[in-house]
Amino acid sequence: MSGYFSPKYRELSPYVPGEQPKDRKYVKLNTNESPFPPSPIALEYAARALAGLNLYSDPDCTELRRRIALTYGVTPDCVICGNGSDDILSFAFQAFCDGETPAVFADITYGFYRVFAARERIPVRIIPLKDDLTIDPEEYHNAEGTVFIANPNAPTGIALTVGEIEGILKSNEKNVVVIDEAYVDFGAESCVPLIKKYRNLFVTQTFSKSRSLAGGRLGFGIADPGLIRDLDTVRCSINPYNVNAVTQAAGVGTLSDGEYTAENCKKIIKTRAYLTDRLASLGFRLTDSLANFVFAKHEEISGDVLCAKLREKGVLVRRFDTERIRDHLRITVGSDEQTDKLLCAIGEIL
Ligand code: PMP
Repeated sequence: MSGYFSPKYRELSPYVPGEQPKDRKYVKLNTNESPFPPSPIALEYAARALAGLNLYSDPDCTELRRRIALTYGVTPDCVICGNGSDDILSFAFQAFCDGETPAVFADITYGFYRVFAARERIPVRIIPLKDDLTIDPEEYHNAEGTVFIANPNAPTGIALTVGEIEGILKSNEKNVVVIDEAYVDFGAESCVPLIKKYRNLFVTQTFSKSRSLAGGRLGFGIADPGLIRDLDTVRCSINPYNVNAVTQAAGVGTLSDGEYTAENCKKIIKTRAYLTDRLASLGFRLTDSLANFVFAKHEEISGDVLCAKLREKGVLVRRFDTERIRDHLRITVGSDEQTDKLLCAIGEIL
């Protein structure tokens, strides 16, 4: 730390993303990316956008927001776009939390929530998951703060139903409820239709998982126009050009090729079922994941040993050194070939 660093950030522990090593070729199952390339139409649109890079990108993401709105049956004034959904979540912490309005979230959930709160000096109220790692929705009723729920949750993959989320929304009229749907396309139910009924609901989604654009960095949020205006005030006070022109074009191309995304999701769901069965037969206990990853713990081998041995064999998975889940591995559901390599490596280790 230099002597120049503002004291307000000296205690900050930044978010640590899953590694992207370049030292050798790994079977990369540690950051929940899609194993499939972007849609060919996305690539074509992105390539066309390159020639216009002398100009700033559209600060309103007009065409992209129009396409997202069309896809989800809402109007464009219900949509905000960001540089990944991390950007959007960051806006939500800034717009809807402060010293008087804490952020309320689970003890085991997306690790960035804690960092956003710490960065903004927002008090937090942490609600532990139940022993079976599920969320008790009633614990979020009358939350007296801004609620953040990843649905499906990460890293467990377990999802609440829309009915359970509706209960949370009803009892929190005075608070914003943020539902982070980064993994919703792999089998869970989206809350987006509820935005017409609940003005306190903000749903975030990403192009990083089901839509194969993690490197493009594109996320979006959907809510009543009132909430979107607040978020846009924050966004335009930080960086109105937060989504670059190539990424905007790739996003539009991806949405015009919905079939490609749907097919890829089907493949992941099928491979997830296969992987879950095989891991269970190898002595793992797994949560009921509806995401593009499984969350698994072996009966006999510790998480750190297994993670390290897999790495030696060229397979990367994610492990969190956090109470209650130290022995779990979060394993991305990859292609069939990657899955076979993973299973083969685990077989050898066992
Ligand atoms: N929410 C959750 C639950 C996630 O796991 C991630 C991915 N790390 C994100 C949001 C952010 O993803 P992105 O910024 O790539 O959209």
